[in-house]
Amino acid sequence: MKEIAMTRFLDAADVAALVRATGVANTIAQMAHHIRQDFVRWEAFDKSARLATHSVDGVIELMPVSDAVQYAFKYVNGHPRNAQNAMPTVMAFGVLAEVASGFPLLLCDLTLATALRTAATSALAAQVMARPGAATLALIGNGAQAEFQALAFHAMVGIREIRAYDIDPAATARLARNLQGVPGLKVAAVDSVRTAVQGADIISTITADKTRATILTPDLVAPGVHINAVGGDCPGKTELHPQILRQARIVVEYAPQTRIEGEIQQLPADTPVTELWEILSGRVAGRTETGQVTVFDSVGFALEDYSALRWLHAAAHAQHRGSHVELVATPPDPRNLYGWMMDAGAPQPVREPLAALA
Ligand code: NAD
Repeated sequence: MKEIAMTRFLDAADVAALVRATGVANTIAQMAHHIRQDFVRWEAFDKSARLATHSVDGVIELMPVSDAVQYAFKYVNGHPRNAQNAMPTVMAFGVLAEVASGFPLLLCDLTLATALRTAATSALAAQVMARPGAATLALIGNGAQAEFQALAFHAMVGIREIRAYDIDPAATARLARNLQGVPGLKVAAVDSVRTAVQGADIISTITADKTRATILTPDLVAPGVHINAVGGDCPGKTELHPQILRQARIVVEYAPQTRIEGEIQQLPADTPVTELWEILSGRVAGRTETGQVTVFDSVGFALEDYSALRWLHAAAHAQHRGSHVELVATPPDPRNLYGWMMDAGAPQPVREPLAALA
């Protein structure tokens, strides 16, 4: 009997179970390892800025990337007003496929993985850009991404104190509650951005608003601070006053995409920036001066999702999670799609997934 190819499928609950079994901080660290491995191989990837479809309420984006062996894409939305209808601002799913045949190996939820890989990338950037010994993080915007950011900075950068601020005090209270009991991490709820940033080594802005917001103004930025600017990730959606950017060392993921979507959309298109892979691969130095203000202008790049998909595929295999689905038709006689259709749904002999996919 011909084996038919099956795609591994991980729904949102499967992914949550994988992450819980691995541990959140551990998962973030492992994803960060994958992201570093892939960023160091930057030139092996076929890259492009994501394709964004904007509407009044938000954006839907397709994010493809591939090397010679594997192809990945993510579908992701950003709808800041979704929370009013009990829907997340950001939801995502994605596919990992083999380049040689085009066959989809994995289809899975990427909502949780987006939060994990964003936090992992933020922490990787902070490791090379924040001042050594950074211990205090101002976390502005305490929504769905916030716990993951907090745990990544705690586990990977050594942050011990978080000063959390959100225009919605209930969001900050939830963050503090969820992180209660994390050993060595103190979360203090504060009532303004100004209080949050005082004495902070790192400032993370991760708010959601479909507008040019000014969460941080130049008077709030002390010399030597590292800003992890995550929430500004669409044309017309920014968080930093442009004067902060003019005086800072700016690092981005993929410049052609960030110039459209990131904080630097506020600057001239030829403003010099460094790409994170250049620092991670040792070609360019990270922080170069103690008093330097550094900005990681994060918008989220497809390669981080590829790394997350790689992690999910390997972890699902190791932990025997998820199911196998006949996502695409693979007729026994590949040219007889019609004949296959006429038989489809009829009782089938036991079908084995391809060994490579099991
Ligand atoms: P969310 O809607 O769950 O949370 C956003 C939080 O920001 C809310 O609690 C809201 O009250 C708060 N907020 C809004 N305006 C604020 C302000 N002026 N000051 C302080 N707090 C404010 O959204 P989320 O899933 O946590 O995502 C947050 C942002 O990060 C979104 O803009 C999203 O598009 C972006 N994001 C970026 C990446 C990336 O890779 N760069 C990845 C994921 C999400």
